[in-house]
Amino acid sequence: MSFSAEEFKRQFPLFAQEENSELVYLDNAATTQKPMSVINAIRDYYIHSSANTHRSSHRLARKSTEMVECVRKKAAQFVNAVSEKEIIFCRGATEALNLLAHCLCSEMEPGDEIVISTAEHHANIVPWQMAAERHRLTIRYVPDIAGIPQFDRLGEVLNERTRVVSLTGGSNAIGLRPDLAAISQSLRHVQVKWIVDGAQLAAHEEIDVRKIGCDFFVCSAHKFYGPSGIGFLYGREGLLESMPPWLGGGEMISKVEPQTSGYADLPHKFEAGTSSLAALAGLGAALDFLAQQDRKAMAEHEQKLVHYLHRKLAASPDFRLISQASHNLGIVAFVPVHGSATDLMHWLDERDIAVRVGHHCAQLLGRASGNLVTVRASVAAYNTDSDIRTFLQALEDFCEVQQQAVIAHEYESDSW
Ligand code: PMP
Repeated sequence: MSFSAEEFKRQFPLFAQEENSELVYLDNAATTQKPMSVINAIRDYYIHSSANTHRSSHRLARKSTEMVECVRKKAAQFVNAVSEKEIIFCRGATEALNLLAHCLCSEMEPGDEIVISTAEHHANIVPWQMAAERHRLTIRYVPDIAGIPQFDRLGEVLNERTRVVSLTGGSNAIGLRPDLAAISQSLRHVQVKWIVDGAQLAAHEEIDVRKIGCDFFVCSAHKFYGPSGIGFLYGREGLLESMPPWLGGGEMISKVEPQTSGYADLPHKFEAGTSSLAALAGLGAALDFLAQQDRKAMAEHEQKLVHYLHRKLAASPDFRLISQASHNLGIVAFVPVHGSATDLMHWLDERDIAVRVGHHCAQLLGRASGNLVTVRASVAAYNTDSDIRTFLQALEDFCEVQQQAVIAHEYESDSW
């Protein structure tokens, strides 16, 4: 199979709308656009089979139940899980990480330790802080240099009290993609639970949790061309079995008595209440969609764009590059030398170029590196060479206007 970004893009109806004919969408780390097949799956669910699962056994309820379990099978294949029981549906990576922090920490002793890194999304920091406060646990950070975690020094913060190591599979702020094989090596002889935050990773690489060797993996469908409000947690079956449930309610029980309840088997123990069924139908379609693509060719295309952007911005005196091209999942983070990042974002927005400005839910990294506010351009496989040229031209035009403003200001100062 080969890959054409132009052809791939044609499957995304948003880009075919007249009002979006000039759009250059470079905010893919926040969320990706959706192909027609995903949109159709959501629509078809409501038109043809809308009914709640499990609770009743009429034809439509059975159809919904089958759909959910079929998507679970696809999700298990997507990450190469051993069994479908290892897939827990949830709202996304944030909810999955909260589930893990809640369930894993509730069984820890005061003084036990959790290891995270400065490059984590807030979703992989705050839930641990909340749990640490509740259970009097200690949070340790992988050693860093100016905010950039040195994952090869992970061993320095591991000790006999470490219970959980929860690390990014790829940073949403600077694209940094840790060497997961090396992390696995560091954790080989220690008894800890290793969580990979795969929210960014799953969009750009094929995932094999068995090869990675992690205990848990979390992801959100909206980052890989699926709908928002749905994602899943992969967990080793034995570990999920031994964990207490999180949310209580319907679907997650075996029996309910006045004072206590028994819980359902995996995976339902962790899926209380009515799931986002239409979104699940969309997730199934997104998994099918990705399964039909040449993922290696997609990744190569994205890498080509990211390397090109880094090369161009590194060569320009008008920008300070924050991200690095190597081991990068598809993110270019930078700041303009003249003018503010926010001014630049507005300039780009006026030209219908979508990028993001801010701390990107990674304040620890931003503060430690001295770059709390950056411009982030993040690519997906539908970004074309033409998108990148348009983006670079707009950056150049912005700099020219900024230079003129500097010259005008100097002239005025001289006149005094
Ligand atoms: N982790 C990372 C690395 C992310 O990029 C994101 C989303 N920006 C999350 C976690 C949280 O994902 P969600 O908002 O879909 O729950």
